[in-house]
Amino acid sequence: MKRPLEMAHDFLAEVVTQDDIVVDATMGNGHDTLFLAKLAKQVYAFDIQEQALEKTQERLNEAGFENVQLILQGHERVDQFVTEAKAGIFNLGYLPSADKSVITKPQTTIEALEKLCHLLVKGGRIAIMIYYGHEGGDLERDAVLDYVSNLPQQEFTSTIYQTLNQVNKPPFLVMIEKLGK
Ligand code: SAH
Repeated sequence: MKRPLEMAHDFLAEVVTQDDIVVDATMGNGHDTLFLAKLAKQVYAFDIQEQALEKTQERLNEAGFENVQLILQGHERVDQFVTEAKAGIFNLGYLPSADKSVITKPQTTIEALEKLCHLLVKGGRIAIMIYYGHEGGDLERDAVLDYVSNLPQQEFTSTIYQTLNQVNKPPFLVMIEKLGK
């Protein structure tokens, strides 16, 4: 069976082409940024930690990708940099290799999600990996689930992919698709 992160990548890869603009809302170590750089025309990647930009830049240089703009800003400002997107990905929580007190927060996560849903072209998709084992993670999880559960069904479909029988609160995946052609 696919792990949630694998599922997230496959979900986006199904729709992203070399003509598309996409967003990595939480750069972190840059794994998703590189993944998207291989698929899309242009990637806009956000993080609020310098360390994330450095790691990601290194990773992109090694692989030889120049189609990425790394932005040292919160993802809640996505609308200031991007006018449309075919896809977006969020990896919530903290960056394991960095300061564990720097975490994504419900209010800014929802603001970013709301803006990205708005910027999404028809047929566009968003994948959200929800890590909720840390302090405050359950509040963010609930905020995201509440938000995506209330998206208008004429415009979006939202789904969840989650293992049910594992210990230690493993991350799970929420997927959103904007309907239409
Ligand atoms: N929990 C995941 C990694 C999450 S990394 C795992 O274990 O694999 C989350 C990243 O989001 C961090 O690098 C953090 O700096 C970043 N971040 C936190 N708040 C943010 C914001 N408002 N906008 C953009 N990035 C943010």
